[in-house]
Amino acid sequence: MSFSPYPSYQRHCGWSRPDDMIKAAPALRGDQEYDAVVIGAGYTGLAIVQRLAQLHPEYRIALLEAEQIGAGSPGRNSGFVLETVLGGVHTAHFNEIHALYQRTHKELMKQAALPTNRSGQTIFKAAATARGEKALQQLSKSLQTSKQPWQSMDAKQLQELTGSNYYRAGIRLSGNQLVNPVELVTAIARQLPDNVTLYEQSPAIELEQHQRSWTVCTPEGQLKAPQVFLANNAFIKGLGFGQSRSVTIYTYAGITAPLNDSEREQTSSKGQWGLLPAHRLGTTFRSTNDGRLMVRGMYDYETEGGNEVPDILQRSLSKRYPSLQGARQLEQWWGGTTSLTANGAPLWGQLKPGLFASVGCNGVGIVKGWLLGKTLAELAHGIATHNIPSLFGRPSWIPPEPFRKVGFLTVSAIEKKLAGNEC
Ligand SMILES: Cc1cc2nc3c(=O)[nH]c(=O)nc-3n(C[C@H](O)[C@H](O)[C@H](O)COP(=O)(O)OP(=O)(O)OC[C@H]3O[C@@H](n4cnc5c(N)ncnc54)[C@H](O)[C@@H]3O)c2cc1C
Repeated sequence: MSFSPYPSYQRHCGWSRPDDMIKAAPALRGDQEYDAVVIGAGYTGLAIVQRLAQLHPEYRIALLEAEQIGAGSPGRNSGFVLETVLGGVHTAHFNEIHALYQRTHKELMKQAALPTNRSGQTIFKAAATARGEKALQQLSKSLQTSKQPWQSMDAKQLQELTGSNYYRAGIRLSGNQLVNPVELVTAIARQLPDNVTLYEQSPAIELEQHQRSWTVCTPEGQLKAPQVFLANNAFIKGLGFGQSRSVTIYTYAGITAPLNDSEREQTSSKGQWGLLPAHRLGTTFRSTNDGRLMVRGMYDYETEGGNEVPDILQRSLSKRYPSLQGARQLEQWWGGTTSLTANGAPLWGQLKPGLFASVGCNGVGIVKGWLLGKTLAELAHGIATHNIPSLFGRPSWIPPEPFRKVGFLTVSAIEKKLAGNEC
């Protein structure tokens, strides 16, 4: 199987763009030399350039983005800025990682000059099945042990909050935040340090190693630098790295038109809310501050799905809101990518002399991407602030095709069955 080195999505994402969206930066044309090149302007890449610029004010740093900032995956997600550690790492590390995520969340919002004030927002895990309830009981134990704040929610509270009687039980998670991800990522990109040059619509298509430097090729130019950082997440494989550690997953989101006043009263009378499913293959829901409902679900392996997507998302929404007229029609829907590793550990560190990577946030990469990007810049500078491999683990080996595809499809079919009505 050949992997594309950069994204090419079928549809625009449906999050509204800020009016003062940053003007598009020029594409790279011609050949230039820099001290460092960062590939990918998502949360990880933006954190790398920020920290690198702080550590090396004398550096000239180039940031290459395949699309326009925010049009790609960093702006396509559901906008849950999560500091609660829900899994994917050894429970012994929950506490330490939670403290790091709390700090990182604050830093990220400060960098974006957006408020961390989340009063009026409720973020929770919810279960619609007996299996889901068991999973929440397990989760509550690990949250308890790691001293992460939580509160249980019953079916009545869930109904009052969301306007749907679909769910049996929930766990309210404190400290997290709902944002418009396009707004978040563009706000961060507005604050680029002076020694960082952004090139948009400039996908890296090839990397060449020389004795003491790397050349990054784009369609119309080349950059040469002693240090190159791969922050292109799901597209690292297309540049020749991480094939045996990561797979690219497409997942989808849809959003309704703004609900009318009485529908809004039913679904968000107690403020904005965000619902994470009890099963990892379940469906995510949230309300938005302009009175819409957003639904996220489904997974596809390595290629983007087609017209079946809106029907499936719509079915999930209609199951929760059978009588709500405004939930009967998704106004927009779109796909986005994320990079998964078999054991949830990120591919992070120095791959070769002068070549660094941080990819594989496994579906929760806003806060985690910022943390891993920042610490990667520190590693390249020679300071080890946090031992990322010991906290998050190292990604385990994934066999080549056709085994990886068969393995993925088998596991996801089983998990989908187990998820049942959480989808
Ligand atoms: C539908 C959906 C919902 C999600 N919901 C959430 C959520 O609510 N909360 C959460 O924390 N996470 C969520 N995620 C996951 C989250 O979006 C990612 O984990 C996060 O964006 C990872 O950040 P990143 O910077 O590492 O990578 P990305 O956000 O993928 O950014 C990589 C950047 O690199 C660029 N790029 C790729 N290839 C090249 C190239 N060759 N040259 C130059 N640039 C390149 C891309 O255009 C992109 O801008 C969701 C993902 C999806 C798809």
